[in-house]
Amino acid sequence: MKINEQYAKLPGNYLFSEIARRVAAYSAEHPDVKPIRLGIGDVTRPLVPAVVEAMRKAVSEMGRLETFHGYGPEQGYEFLRNAIAEHDFRARGTDISPDEIFISDGAKSDCGNIGDLFSIENKIAVCDPVYPVYVDANAIDGRTGDYLQASGKWSDVIYLPLTAENDFVPELPASHADLIYLCSPNNPTGTALTRKQLSVWVEYANQHGAVILFDAAYEAYITEPEVPHSIYEIPGARECAIEFRSFSKTAGFTGTRCAFTVVPKTLIRQGQSLHAMWNRRHTTKFNGVSYITQRGAEAVYSQAGQKQIRADIAYYQNNARMIREGLKQAGFSVYGGVNSPYIWFHAPMDSWKFFDLLLQKAHVVTTPGAGFGSRGRNYMRVTAFGEANDIEEAVRRITVM
Ligand code: PLP
Repeated sequence: MKINEQYAKLPGNYLFSEIARRVAAYSAEHPDVKPIRLGIGDVTRPLVPAVVEAMRKAVSEMGRLETFHGYGPEQGYEFLRNAIAEHDFRARGTDISPDEIFISDGAKSDCGNIGDLFSIENKIAVCDPVYPVYVDANAIDGRTGDYLQASGKWSDVIYLPLTAENDFVPELPASHADLIYLCSPNNPTGTALTRKQLSVWVEYANQHGAVILFDAAYEAYITEPEVPHSIYEIPGARECAIEFRSFSKTAGFTGTRCAFTVVPKTLIRQGQSLHAMWNRRHTTKFNGVSYITQRGAEAVYSQAGQKQIRADIAYYQNNARMIREGLKQAGFSVYGGVNSPYIWFHAPMDSWKFFDLLLQKAHVVTTPGAGFGSRGRNYMRVTAFGEANDIEEAVRRITVM
């Protein structure tokens, strides 16, 4: 027997375990200090009442003989797929049908598993900085070549730099890319692609027979009209793109787990329907999200649910504004936070060093940009998830540091 040797190539500590280790070490030495955590991208507001009520009702259905549900459809219950197609796509004039939507337990799982559809010979392109899951999942599959310790990059990956100079908009690669991961609004930079900027990529993918893997986990935070909510708003995207969405940041489902992936039936490569392939993969390796959770997700689209989740999103958006304005006033170059819960700001030194300094001097936990790629090494990511009072205090402490 032989193990998958790719695991041995993966670089050391996962970003958030290293952050946790440093915070734990600091707290052990300074037990009186309570750091304010603006590091991990996890929501803090509880599930909204409409969702809780729907889940309670679903629990009692599960406890009665007449209304019990066993295995559901692997692709998700029709009631949820219909609600998503109607509210997230058709109501916005986007042509996506319920059977092109696959319900899952998370955008992370889907972004990681989508590689099952593609040969390991494909060349992947990712932004730098990037949500680490895209690269690591491809590394496990064997699609990334060798890990180059000195640069922190993989030999066979095309990196698309996101810098202040290019306004954090990825430019088309110099060499051919087969699989292109785009995240908008982006984690970690908090910036978003406009319709025009995204159109360039859709055109590229269709011309080159490439596939765009479009992560829209932060779609709910979009405020600017020129930023599309779905890649399918762009003509031609149905022929070249798969979209990942999640209830995690939209409705506080990070601990409840529900997401969905859209694979249009018009996405064909080498004569094969990627929709049919994903359906095969999903029904083989996945047994569906719980009925209770899907009923909770359905309630997100009710009138009450929409009003309640929008209030929570507005709360985080206001936090984002406070962070953005506060850090700007403190003299930092600040990006993102307008269409996203993430704020990305320039650090005056190496980001891990600045992480330590912010922890020790301001007692604020951030995320060092280096954890997202080499182009992040002089940036910090701060999240707007948290209590407004804490955010205000954290910004004050950084300002007077
Ligand atoms: N995609 C991006 C860009 C994310 O930042 C995250 C979570 O932080 C996810 C996906 C994961 O979403 P989920 O909770 O649905 O797995």
